[in-house]
Amino acid sequence: MNRVLVYIEHDDGVIAETSMQALTFGGGLGEVEVVSVGETALGGWQIQHPLLTDYAPEAIAESLAQLVGAEMPGVVLAGGTERGNEVMAHVAALLDLPLAANVTEVRPSGDAWDLTRIRWGGSLLEEATLTAIVKLATVAPHVIEAANFPFRAATVFTPELADELARTMVFERVTLSEGITLTTAPVVVSGGRGVGSPEGFAVLEELAGMLGGAVGCSRVVTNNGWRPHSDQVGQTGTRVAPNLYIACGISGAIQHWVGMMASKNVLAINNDAEAPMVTKADYAVIGDLHPILDAIVAEVRRRRAG
Ligand SMILES: Cc1cc2nc3c(=O)[nH]c(=O)nc-3n(C[C@H](O)[C@H](O)[C@H](O)COP(=O)(O)OP(=O)(O)OC[C@H]3O[C@@H](n4cnc5c(N)ncnc54)[C@H](O)[C@@H]3O)c2cc1C
Repeated sequence: MNRVLVYIEHDDGVIAETSMQALTFGGGLGEVEVVSVGETALGGWQIQHPLLTDYAPEAIAESLAQLVGAEMPGVVLAGGTERGNEVMAHVAALLDLPLAANVTEVRPSGDAWDLTRIRWGGSLLEEATLTAIVKLATVAPHVIEAANFPFRAATVFTPELADELARTMVFERVTLSEGITLTTAPVVVSGGRGVGSPEGFAVLEELAGMLGGAVGCSRVVTNNGWRPHSDQVGQTGTRVAPNLYIACGISGAIQHWVGMMASKNVLAINNDAEAPMVTKADYAVIGDLHPILDAIVAEVRRRRAG
């Protein structure tokens, strides 16, 4: 049976949902083995080295390449995140192997894979064939529901790493927002140009707070300096998959849509009934977003009080 190594991203042991999705995806391709830097509750291969104190793509990739060289699995997967794609691109270069990034489906065909992958920020799906002795791929976020994965006995792998591999690494973390984050929030209240100003976001903040959610925005909003880039949803921002995405004054350009199309429900509030966001949404309210949001906030408050 194919051995499938899956590189797991985690933050102090908190495993990324996208990595759990990649693990689940890998389960359909063979016998899955977890690889992580340091310990996680999943066990498996644990890469340990004094250089690896935080995210360091070149050093992690070199470690993975050494592990692949030693173990020769048939497949190596990671989540199709910025970090997953970055690490796997380095691994591919080090091993001189092809990498299929952001894969949504694999159809094994003899020794090769016929696969589908997301290209151009989600604006097209590409059919491709991957032929390689070790197949390297990243799994596009949210193409599969993550399943639970049992603990497997841990095995420490200590790579040989030259000091210069730590030239790219995270050395400081700055918290921009406390509590619920955009990627994990069950509700995202997101604003676009239609919100009109930084102050216009106050009511979105209020609604997000009431619903236990987070505030997102479009690129126009970050370009205007109304919100930080960490709030931006889309191709060049964060990808989200909440239960409810409330798009306020957002037209629904493809570069925004790819960042939130995995949402379970979309409510569009827009004064243009023909806006792409409105035509694609599950629910829509047509009109000026400001009185509409004020009315929603007042109604939520009234029901809670009652
Ligand atoms: C390479 C590239 C990458 C990009 N990456 C991203 C990305 O990651 N994320 C992203 O969002 N964009 C991205 N963009 C930009 C994207 O193409 C759009 O320009 C952007 O999403 C539009 O933002 P918007 O919907 O806020 O503004 P607009 O397109 O101007 O839409 C504003 C909407 O608000 C409505 N509106 C106006 N006033 C009101 C009101 N008072 N009440 C209700 N509705 C109102 C309008 O009818 C309109 O539908 C990218 C573009 C490129 C080229």
